[in-house]
Amino acid sequence: MKTSDRPEVQRYARHVNPHLVSLLGVLGYGRLFTRAQGERIEDHRGNSYLDALAGFGSVPLGHHPERLRVRFEQALDEEPWGEDEGPRAAQLKALLARRSSLPSVLLASSGAEAVDVALKIARASTGRQTILCCDGSYHGLNLGALSVAAEPRVRKPFAPLLPGCRVLPYGDLDALRHALQDGAAAFLLEPLQIEGGMRMPPGGYLEACRELCSRHGTLLILDEIQTGLGRCGHDFLWKKYGVKPDIVTLGKALGGSYCALSALCLNPELLERAERQAPGLVGPGPVGGVNVASAVALEFLSLLDEPLLNNVRQRGEELLEGLQRRLQGHPLVRGIRGEGLLVGVELGMLPRGWKLPLPASVPPPPTGHWIALKMLEASVICQPTTHRPDVLRLEPPLTVSAPDIAILQDRIERVLRECNGATAVLSGLVGRLGRQARAGWTF
Ligand code: PLP
Repeated sequence: MKTSDRPEVQRYARHVNPHLVSLLGVLGYGRLFTRAQGERIEDHRGNSYLDALAGFGSVPLGHHPERLRVRFEQALDEEPWGEDEGPRAAQLKALLARRSSLPSVLLASSGAEAVDVALKIARASTGRQTILCCDGSYHGLNLGALSVAAEPRVRKPFAPLLPGCRVLPYGDLDALRHALQDGAAAFLLEPLQIEGGMRMPPGGYLEACRELCSRHGTLLILDEIQTGLGRCGHDFLWKKYGVKPDIVTLGKALGGSYCALSALCLNPELLERAERQAPGLVGPGPVGGVNVASAVALEFLSLLDEPLLNNVRQRGEELLEGLQRRLQGHPLVRGIRGEGLLVGVELGMLPRGWKLPLPASVPPPPTGHWIALKMLEASVICQPTTHRPDVLRLEPPLTVSAPDIAILQDRIERVLRECNGATAVLSGLVGRLGRQARAGWTF
């Protein structure tokens, strides 16, 4: 399939991601993003877009924030390069230990890697095998993290994955109570499920999970790789609920958009117990450039202060309440929910209250993709959530301003005014496919 005559697009298609480029070509979605500054990204034609995705949370302070850029450059000159953790890594660990009140900290590169290490520690320290997780969860793409991804579509191509991982319905305390009877090593949970469709924890759920896990000697692992470090208006979302986990995983924002860095914070007794069982095998393995990454992370954390968290809470409320007010009664909108600067707009094609008798394995229609495409054409970058393509995710940088939130609301309202029902979506989609086919699937 032809995608573009532009050499940079062809290069990207040949060497980076051919499937993505053909997929983008199908709807004419494709852009090459070539420059970025603050909350704006520019494409190869010089068009500017408001970034309402922020690299899935890995761009917390916008693109090229001055303080982090300067610190990064300085650290490249000054910090020991390589894999050995030096004083800067120790300083970062001490700070994360203090902010999480969990004194042992391990550093890794990706979020999935931190999750894998958490699973290893859970098994080695408890001597138990079962890992409980929830439907709709997303913990990354390593084999370990995929074993606790609840969607069969995601797991099937790589089977058999880790044995002993058991999926529970999210929010169902009876199911958890029952599963804990069999003596699980850990219950791995996102305090708010983003990729599962921005699912909020039901009232009292997190608190009850904590209580049940403690009662059964099962570790509670909270995955805060996307919800943590300011995204939800707190350094850790669990602090809002007063639910302290045994292990918390962090990532994405930690590297301040310059470095790939993740972490897990836990109680020292757990780490000691795991180390006794598997000396030298528990951690993630060395992280290249860990001291430079730690210097950037320290600078980012020094900026993650009350004024910034306050901005997240205020802008998040404006976005959530503004959209709820403006989109009330819209025929496609089924719900608007979120926490801080993580907001999801659930879109439905069928009349309200209707449900097709399809098995749960059939994914919902990709309405979010079509609306995300229309948003892109309205100069806003956003994406649906991974497992629920009917939920549009809005996740701007933590530094987003009130005028940018107003722009974001205006654009969504405008796009949804044009797509005011299932017929408009379907005819738009069919018309676009026809146009793209006639043009040779180019972008
Ligand atoms: N856990 C959660 C909750 C995530 O949202 C993600 C990524 O989006 C991960 C784990 C995996 O992180 P990474 O992509 O850095 O491996």
